Amino acid sequence: MYYSSINIPIILEVANGAISNFDYLLKKNFLSFENRFIITEESLFNNYRNFIDRLNFSKVYFNKSYDFKDVIELAKDFNNDDFLIIGFGGGKILDFTKLFADKVNLPYIVVPSTLSNDGIYSPIARLDENGKKKSFGVKPPLGIIADLDIIKNSPEVNLIAGVGDLISNLSALKDWKYANKVKGELINDFAYSLSYMSASSIFKFSEKDIYTKKFLQALTYGLIMSGLSMMIAGNSRPASGSEHQLSHSIDEYFSQRATLHGIQVAWGFLLIEERFRENNTDELRMFFDNIGLNRLISERINFSDSEVNDIVEKAKKIRNRFTILNK
Ligand SMILES: [Zn+2]
Repeated sequence: MYYSSINIPIILEVANGAISNFDYLLKKNFLSFENRFIITEESLFNNYRNFIDRLNFSKVYFNKSYDFKDVIELAKDFNNDDFLIIGFGGGKILDFTKLFADKVNLPYIVVPSTLSNDGIYSPIARLDENGKKKSFGVKPPLGIIADLDIIKNSPEVNLIAGVGDLISNLSALKDWKYANKVKGELINDFAYSLSYMSASSIFKFSEKDIYTKKFLQALTYGLIMSGLSMMIAGNSRPASGSEHQLSHSIDEYFSQRATLHGIQVAWGFLLIEERFRENNTDELRMFFDNIGLNRLISERINFSDSEVNDIVEKAKKIRNRFTILNK
C-alpha cells in the first residue's frame, strides 16, 4: 500500500453563529436525515435553548451520568430509523455521544459548548466503567460545528485546560521520537507535523487574549487538528505520551483529587521535562505563567513528594506505550 486513507468529517464549521448554519451545512453536503437526536445536559439545554432550537431536533436525551453502562442502556432501546446523532456539550457529553453513535452505528455531529480537551474530534472516547475511567475506540464524526458565540461563554478554566491539552502534544511528540529511536516505532510524518503545528499555534497567546475571537478560533482549530493527527496515526500517539500516562495515573489511583484533564497533562508535561528529560523549562514555564496554567496547576494539583513518586511509578504500568517513563 502506497497511501493511507482516513475518514475526515465532511463538515467543519468554526464561526460565530455556526449553529444557525446547521441545516445549510447538511444540505450543502447532500445530507438529509429524517430525525435528529440530541444528547446534552438539561442545564445546557435550558441555557442554550434558542441555539438548540435551530438544530430542529426530534428527540433529546439528558445526560445524568457518564458511565459505560448508561451508553449500553440507551443504545438498547434505541430505534435506529434514519437518525442523525448530535452531541451538544463539553468533553464528557461528546465522549458519551461518540460511544453511543458507535454502538448504534449511526453518524454523529459534535457541537462543543466549550474547549477543555482534544476529544472534540478524536478516535477515542473516555468514559467510566465500574467507577474507573476507560478509553474506548470510536469512529470519527460526520461533522464538527463549533459556534464561537457559545464557546465564548465557557468558563476560563475550561479554555485554559484546553490549552494545556493542546500544548502537551509537544511532550507526546518527544515520546514518539524517543520510541522511534529506541524501539524503532514508526513515525507517521503527517500526523507528527500536524500535531506539532497545532500545538505551536497557541504559544503566541496569553491570558488576556482568552476571550478574543483570534484565540478561540486558534484553540478550536488547534484541538481539532490535534484530533486529526490522531486519526491519521490511527491512535492517540501524536497527542498522548508520558504526560498523559501521569494524568491517567491520577484518574485511576487518586480519582478523588483528579481535576480537568488538560490541567493534569500540563502539570505532567512540566514534571516529565524536568525529571525525565532534564530539559530547561524556563520557556515553558513562562508560557504557563502567561496563559494562566501555572495558577491553575498550583490551585488544583497538590500532591506530596511521595504521592508524586507513587503517581509516576503507577503511570509506568498504566498503558502499553513506550515513553520516556520506560527509561
Ligand atoms: Zn489529552
